[in-house]
Amino acid sequence: MTLTIELPDEAATLQFGTSLAKSISGQGGVILLEGDLGAGKTTLVRATLHALGYSGRVVSPSYTLVEPYNAGPVRIFHLDLYRLSDPEELEFIGIRDIDPVCDLMFVEWPSHGKGMLPAEDLTICLQDRDPGRVLVANGYTEKGLLWLQRLRHNHASVG
Ligand code: ADP
Ligand code: MG
Repeated sequence: MTLTIELPDEAATLQFGTSLAKSISGQGGVILLEGDLGAGKTTLVRATLHALGYSGRVVSPSYTLVEPYNAGPVRIFHLDLYRLSDPEELEFIGIRDIDPVCDLMFVEWPSHGKGMLPAEDLTICLQDRDPGRVLVANGYTEKGLLWLQRLRHNHASVG
């Protein structure tokens, strides 16, 4: 199942983050974020974390590779693998300590971690549009499909 949503401005991306948080609804899982530099991946994760109840600063993990957060019942890990030169390096940032079922993972530049990442529940692809961005989400597991269904419902009702 695929969901395509127009995000004409940054406010729309933030609003989508709120809908995504509602759809995830306290579950863990794996969300991969695709799109060029500046597409809005970090902006979307930041909005989602805030909507999940995290009130602190959300910085891009492009240098640290991973940033952990606590919000509600699940541990959250935000990864940005842009600077990873070898997927094996994921061992050193403790990839094996992250539980892909109980913890919630957001991964930017997942292609750089090929072979070392757990299977994704959901992918979100952001592409440049004039104006704004277009977002395409795909579900790959029962959980991912459930999130997509809820997104369809939640996001339609805010837009
Ligand atoms: P990435 O993590 O994909 O490299 P960032 O989230 O760091 O991208 O930066 C995205 C930039 O695009 C930010 O300046 C943000 O304000 C802007 N932005 C986010 N969503 C939209 C949108 N829907 N339309 C226009 N600009 C957006
Ligand atoms: Mg980023």
